[in-house]
Amino acid sequence: MIYIHVPFCRSFCTYCGFYSEICSRRDPQQVQNRIMEDYVDAILDEIASRREEIAAARGSDPAKPGAAALQAPDTLYIGGGTPSVLAVPMLERIVRALGPATYVEFTVEVNPDDVAAGGASYAAALRALGVNRISMGVQSFDDDILRWMNRRHNATGAREAFRLLRSSGFDNVSIDLIFGLSQLSDGLWERTVDEALALRPEHISAYQLSVEPDSALAEMVASGRYTEASDERCRRQYDTLCRLLAAAGYVHYEVSNWALPGREAVHNSAYWCRVPYVGLGPSAHSLSFPSTAGKASLAAVPGVRSWNGSELARRGADGCLLRWHADQEILSGREAAEEAIMLALRTARGLPLAQLRALSPSAPVDDLLAAGALRLIPVAAASDGPWVRIPEDRFFVSDDIISRLFPEG
Ligand code: SF4
Repeated sequence: MIYIHVPFCRSFCTYCGFYSEICSRRDPQQVQNRIMEDYVDAILDEIASRREEIAAARGSDPAKPGAAALQAPDTLYIGGGTPSVLAVPMLERIVRALGPATYVEFTVEVNPDDVAAGGASYAAALRALGVNRISMGVQSFDDDILRWMNRRHNATGAREAFRLLRSSGFDNVSIDLIFGLSQLSDGLWERTVDEALALRPEHISAYQLSVEPDSALAEMVASGRYTEASDERCRRQYDTLCRLLAAAGYVHYEVSNWALPGREAVHNSAYWCRVPYVGLGPSAHSLSFPSTAGKASLAAVPGVRSWNGSELARRGADGCLLRWHADQEILSGREAAEEAIMLALRTARGLPLAQLRALSPSAPVDDLLAAGALRLIPVAAASDGPWVRIPEDRFFVSDDIISRLFPEG
């Protein structure tokens, strides 16, 4: 599993807390190209220096740590930022450097505005690169809300971009939506979900608006220019989403993710099972298990988390390329256990009850089962006994439930 972070956006969205640099179309093309070419050169340099890790994460070298026993899928996910601001030849250089594009899933995140601007030839070029899944940031089908979000596209543009992707042969498209805005009425949210369903995407991710530190929204809230939606409104909108998507045949397989049967995201689903992955580019994270080759389960094994700094590559005085710095930490047993439980319980799959008890021996598991905050899932012919999950009607408060599994101390 490989993730590549593309740290460029044409403008900043009101709510965004991700690391990204503005690359405006108003900047001279030469300046944009130089910054982006330096970024691509630095990614190629990082690929060359992490070749063994990448081979292991792609499952092509079972002798290397974390490869065979963990069954990480061979996926590539290019996210951001906005990967669709990169010219196709730049993407192509990166993809080629990673080796044969034989991924079971190769996703690129796009902005509808870039799809519309690039047209059918852009979509065809992505397909020629081996991209077989698109994730498009739609967020809303209401133009007032899109303007408030400072998105570049409008609702018509999003619909047109979706149709263009379809007519270009993409049969696996995910769209992102945002709910829980104080100016988003329940009726408007229901119409938004209906609009999304009318497109029949294979996958829908929907996130509640949150106030991220350093975002424009955080400033608006602090200065009293924006009031957050009430918990009750957010809860109602989440329930509406669950109801409408279930009625339309979508499987609610993770707190924020729905898919038509069989179209669950392979890459993200693997993250939630805590398999090793390699993140390349500024602010990208990686997870590895250097001493666990041959072990069948990693659920309780501390791993090594590493991350790249949130900074662009730059040229030194002598013209040499200076890449973003990297750092790492070894996870403690408790951190690894918390992470494994948190990730698993955000999914409909859950985890084996015995494993939950082993990972958090003092957790009030029986109390949570009795209260309906956890539910046993009968698993046919399971050798590890029943599994346990958070029921869908408690997904909205999953963070609270998960925090109760880790009593202080
Ligand atoms: S496009 Fe995505 S990464 Fe860029 S500012 Fe908007 S939300 Fe953030």
